[in-house]
Amino acid sequence: MVKKLSKASPSAESSGIEPPASFHEGALPKLIVFDLDYTLWPFWVDTHVTPPIKASSDHSSAKDRFGENFSFYHEVPSILSSLREHGIKVGAASRTSAPDLGREMLRLLHIGDGEGKKRKAIEYFDHLEIYPGSKMTHFNKLQKATGLAFEDMLFFDDEARNRNVETLGVTSESHCQDAAIQLADFDSVFG
Ligand SMILES: [Mg+2]
Repeated sequence: MVKKLSKASPSAESSGIEPPASFHEGALPKLIVFDLDYTLWPFWVDTHVTPPIKASSDHSSAKDRFGENFSFYHEVPSILSSLREHGIKVGAASRTSAPDLGREMLRLLHIGDGEGKKRKAIEYFDHLEIYPGSKMTHFNKLQKATGLAFEDMLFFDDEARNRNVETLGVTSESHCQDAAIQLADFDSVFG
């Protein structure tokens, strides 16, 4: 069963969707951290992608050595763009064993900002922690880099094992392969 973010009923009169109670001003997370593989994109960058990789002409996807196409989950560009507009800091925490390829993918895939200007996806991240190991390490480094309390961080990840960061005080949304569904819900709040 998929656990969803609690959402207020959409108001027919309002121009947009009402944010859920936990996303009202003052209760917004100061830093939102995303895992990469199967959270922002539907593949493992270290096992599915074979370099060299090359962007498509509009930079919405990238092809690898074997002609396989790779791109973000559909909802991801609008979420990252919205977070930037809301002034919420964004981080990535990935345990991939191919950190260089992960960062290259974030440079090749481009996302339109609020003004319609295409920017490299990597520019939407304030902090990147991409290397193998426990995500406790990733979050301790994020805490040191930002000076923020763990309680002000929200984490999206597809793997339940990474929920161990909750012992630090981080709030996480991790539902084994359901992170994309969480993101779709998130998109309806921030999109
Ligand atoms: Mg993952």
